[in-house]
Amino acid sequence: MPGLDEQLHHVYEEVLRRNPGEQEFHQAVHEVLHSLGPVVKKHPEYVDAAVIKRLCEPERQIIFRVPWVDDAGQVQMNRGFRVQFNSALGPFKGGLRFHPSVYLGIIKFLGFEQIFKNSLTGMPIGGGKGGSDFDPKGRSDAEVMRFCQSFMTELSRHVGEYTDVPAGDIGVGGREIGFLFGQYKRMTNRYESGVLTGKGLTWGGSQVRREATGYGTVFFVDEILKAKGESFEGKRVVVSGSGNVATYAIEKVHQLGGVVVACSDSSGYVVDEDGIDLELLKEIKEVRRGRVNEYAEAKGNRTHFVDGGSVWDVPCQVALPSATQNELGGAAAIQLVKNGCQVVGEGANMPVTPEGVKVFGDAGVRLAPGKAANAGGVATSALEMQQNASRDSWGFEFTEDKLAGIMRNIHDRCAETAEEYGSPGNYVVGANIAGFIRVADAMLALGVI
Ligand code: NDP
Repeated sequence: MPGLDEQLHHVYEEVLRRNPGEQEFHQAVHEVLHSLGPVVKKHPEYVDAAVIKRLCEPERQIIFRVPWVDDAGQVQMNRGFRVQFNSALGPFKGGLRFHPSVYLGIIKFLGFEQIFKNSLTGMPIGGGKGGSDFDPKGRSDAEVMRFCQSFMTELSRHVGEYTDVPAGDIGVGGREIGFLFGQYKRMTNRYESGVLTGKGLTWGGSQVRREATGYGTVFFVDEILKAKGESFEGKRVVVSGSGNVATYAIEKVHQLGGVVVACSDSSGYVVDEDGIDLELLKEIKEVRRGRVNEYAEAKGNRTHFVDGGSVWDVPCQVALPSATQNELGGAAAIQLVKNGCQVVGEGANMPVTPEGVKVFGDAGVRLAPGKAANAGGVATSALEMQQNASRDSWGFEFTEDKLAGIMRNIHDRCAETAEEYGSPGNYVVGANIAGFIRVADAMLALGVI
C-alpha cells in the first residue's frame, strides 16, 4: 500500500490477511497507520512491543443469533455483534448500530475508530462497538421491543458498568436504549444505570446526551473557524442525514448564526433556502418517523426535494456529513471545493472517502475527522456514566459547558499534535497521533496482555 512506513506496511499486510473481506475495517486501519510514520520513527518502542499490531486485533469479538417473533407471528432471525476492541483506558465503550448493512467489517471499523476517539476525549473509556443487521425501519414499536429484548438476552452476558457500556448509533435511539435497558434490568435484577448510555432523563440519562454528537461537531468546527479568524455567523451550511447527529448539528449551527440550507436521508435531500425549520424536521423524523420529502411537502415555499442525487451539489461554505461512512467521495469533494466550501466537519464516522480526503487536503479545505469532531457524543456518555456512578444529575447548561470545554481541548490537542509532527493544520493527522499516543502508552504500561 503506498505511503506507509515499512514497519507499518507489515502491520497492514497482516491486518489484510487476518481480516479478509472487511473493507471498511481495512480503510479505517490504513487511515490511522498512514498518520503514524513520524511517531514510530520517534518512538520505536511502539513497534518493538507490538503495540500497533495488538491495537489492530480486538480483545474479544462476540457474534450471536437474535431470534424474535414479528407482529404476524412469524419467527425472524438476525445476527448480533459486539466487538470489544481495546480496554487499556477503561471499560469498552461505543454504540450499537441497527442497520441492514451491518456485518463484522462495519462493526470492526467503528470499534477501531472508537479506540482513538475515546482516547482523544481524555476520559477513562476503552473502545468497542456492536449492533445487528436488524432494520428497525417500518417495524412496529412492539416488534422493535421484542428484537431488543432478544438482543439483550445474549448481550447481557458481556456488558456491565465496569466491563462494557454500549450506547446508540444508526437505528438505535432513545426508544431502543429503553427496551435494551429494561431487559437488562429485568435479567440482572439490578438497577445498574451505568451499563448503557443515552438513557431517558427520568431513568438515569444525562442532559445534553441526545444533542451531544451534533452540538459537539459544530463546537469543533467553530474552533476551526475561530482559528481562521471567522465564525458561523452568516455561513451557509449543508448537513447530510436527518437523524440524531444531523438534527442537533442543525440546531447548534442555527444558534451560532449560520444557516443550514439542506439535509437528507437515504431517499434524497431537501433544500430550504430560508434555513431548515427544525421543529418541522423533528416532527417528521422523530415523531412520525417519516422521510425528508414530507418536509418539502409541508413547507412549500422556497423549498424543494431532490429524489436521490447528492446533497453535496448544494453550494455551501461549511459541510457537515452526518449520515454514514463513505457518503462523500472524490467527485462530491471536487464539487464542494468548486462551490467554495472551506471547512468539512465529520459528524458521522468516516463519511469522507480517502479520495475525498485527498481532494480537501490538496485544496486547503480544513477537514475535522469524525474521531475528533464527533467525539462529543461519547464524551457526554462518559459524563452520563459519571453522574450514574455518583447518583447525581447535572443541569443542561452545566453539562453543555463541559461538552464545549471537552471539544475545545480535543481541537487544541489535534492542532498542537499536527504541528509537533510536521503537519500543521492537518486535523486528520493530529487526531490519529494524539489519540494513538494516549492509548499506546497505557498499553505499554499494562504489559503484554
Ligand atoms: P440515525 O439513525 O439517527 O440517523 C442516520 C441518518 O443517516 C438518517 O437520516 C439516515 O437516513 C441516514 N443514513 C443512514 N445510513 C445511510 C445510508 N447508507 N445512505 C444514506 N443515508 C443514510 O443515526 P445517527 O445520527 O446516530 O448516526 C449518524 C452517523 O453519526 C453515523 O455514522 C454514526 O456512526 C455517527 N455517530 C453517531 C453518534 C451518536 O451519538 N448517535 C456518535 C458518534 C458518531 P435513513 O433514515 O433514510 O436511513
